[in-house]
Amino acid sequence: MKLPLWKPPGTWCYSGIAMRYAVLADIHSNLAALQAVWADLDRYGGVDGLWCLGDIVGYGPDPGPCLEQLRERSFLSVAGNHDLAAVGRLDLGEFNSEAAQACRVAGPKLDAAAIRFLGELPLRQEIGGITLVHGSPRGPVWEYLLENESAAANFACFHTSVCLVGHSHIPLAFHLDSRGRLAARRVREASELKMGSDRFILNPGSVGQPRDGDPRASYAIYDRDRNTVTWRRVAYDIRVTQARMREAKLPPGLIDRLDYGL
Ligand code: ZN
Repeated sequence: MKLPLWKPPGTWCYSGIAMRYAVLADIHSNLAALQAVWADLDRYGGVDGLWCLGDIVGYGPDPGPCLEQLRERSFLSVAGNHDLAAVGRLDLGEFNSEAAQACRVAGPKLDAAAIRFLGELPLRQEIGGITLVHGSPRGPVWEYLLENESAAANFACFHTSVCLVGHSHIPLAFHLDSRGRLAARRVREASELKMGSDRFILNPGSVGQPRDGDPRASYAIYDRDRNTVTWRRVAYDIRVTQARMREAKLPPGLIDRLDYGL
């Protein structure tokens, strides 16, 4: 199957006055979804940098090209559990059978440089007052942050005002105000959060396998000057990814769930 041509690197990056960063998580080898995000960033007017919260590979059909496109754009990333498992740094026995099978499919599709790159990703990065992890600051490889209780404990595990997480594939925001009150919000549709001086744990949602009932790719843009995070949803041709998954003999359950975003 022929895939659309890639844009030459750097066409949407610019070094303007504003400092804006695209925040991508859980791309999961879904090249059609990733390309739709690039196109959406074009429409948005571009960003200055790219941060990835892990799980570049796993589940989907095109781990190598997804990683290549990220590397062409020069990005900062942490490791996700699927990234580590696909390169043999995590035991597949820890995964459910479909996820493990997808990791077994991903491994042989990666060249030596990609394996080395994924295997060397850190579990945590801090940049410009923002912490990046895959699962949570307390448990970057495995912990899902979906409940207030675990979010409250995790605010004690990072020192910056904002921590960006992935892993659950659910776009959401935990907000801890200066009086220690915690609020959680599921993010539906595109929306903007003005952060002020409070602390936040934010999940941009998943590019390649959304699980909030909306099959469109989900990601976010952090605007450092305006101190905002904007969630965006973008439709992509799910059938392209599903056809590639059938070719790769990935489990039918993984193929079907893309239709529903679950
Ligand atoms: Zn994931």
